[in-house]
Amino acid sequence: MISIQEYRFAESLDEALQLLDASRKNRVIGGGMWLRLGHASVKTAIDLSRLGLDRIEATEDEIAIGAMATLREVETAPCLRELFGGVLAESVSPIVGVQFRNMATVGASVYSRYGFSDLLTALLALDARVELRRAGTMALEDFLKNPPEKRDILTSVRVRRDGRRAAYRTFRRSATDFGVLNVCASISPEGDWRLSVGARPARAARCLEAEALLAAGDAAGAAKTASEKLRYGSNLRGSAEYRRALAEVLTLRCWDALKEGKA
Ligand SMILES: Cc1cc2nc3c(=O)[nH]c(=O)nc-3n(C[C@H](O)[C@H](O)[C@H](O)COP(=O)(O)OP(=O)(O)OC[C@H]3O[C@@H](n4cnc5c(N)ncnc54)[C@H](O)[C@@H]3O)c2cc1C
Repeated sequence: MISIQEYRFAESLDEALQLLDASRKNRVIGGGMWLRLGHASVKTAIDLSRLGLDRIEATEDEIAIGAMATLREVETAPCLRELFGGVLAESVSPIVGVQFRNMATVGASVYSRYGFSDLLTALLALDARVELRRAGTMALEDFLKNPPEKRDILTSVRVRRDGRRAAYRTFRRSATDFGVLNVCASISPEGDWRLSVGARPARAARCLEAEALLAAGDAAGAAKTASEKLRYGSNLRGSAEYRRALAEVLTLRCWDALKEGKA
């Protein structure tokens, strides 16, 4: 259970950051779905929901997803169902249930860098960038590897509209459970491939060697490489060996979907 001493609606991002800096026990609150699972004792909960961060905006050059947009909004936004083979919408659709996705937010999902995250796996394959109030804009890949030392507030996630097509595949032991393994592949009109593998169970990472093989048209080699070069671990959902086998299969399925024009 979570206990909150004071609940504040921030009037501005500057105020939100000041509140965050005021005490280690102050926390930004998104949908609160993850926070309420634990036993956090929060001094001041900082609610960003009055700051207009819930929009998903499509311009000619990019898609900007506000931190307070919910997973359900990602799933249903017409632009996200169309662009990039619809992988962003597809990646969030297996997460728990609709009521849950109506609450859980994009900002929390990305900032928390969960290993099991479906959304992060898809965003990484799309070369997304994150916008942080203090640290500024950076590639999601850098944020995942080297997050800023000081606590920050994620305000939006941005994806360039570079004509990429993408395919997402996840394997779950049962509906609503975390993925045992998540894979997303994308290809730009220039033939630049990106491959990300998440829920290893470590957080999503690219496999550069496999990307090079995909670009060379060697799908079988790429799939094998993704299963060998990335590190896989064991937990109650599956062993490292099982995950390696899944990585090979899911990479091939993404390749097939992209080659057959189904994505
Ligand atoms: C039972 C359960 C099952 C789940 N299953 C899956 C799954 O299968 N696949 C999957 O991908 N995800 C899954 N998730 C994770 C879920 O999708 C969300 O990522 C998670 O609930 C966090 O979103 P929230 O809005 O509820 O965050 P909150 O609980 O509000 O916050 C989580 C953390 O993020 C911080 N935070 C919130 N917003 C921001 C911000 N804008 N900037 C900086 N820090 C912020 C908070 O301080 C807190 O530390 C699951 C979660 C639960 C509880």
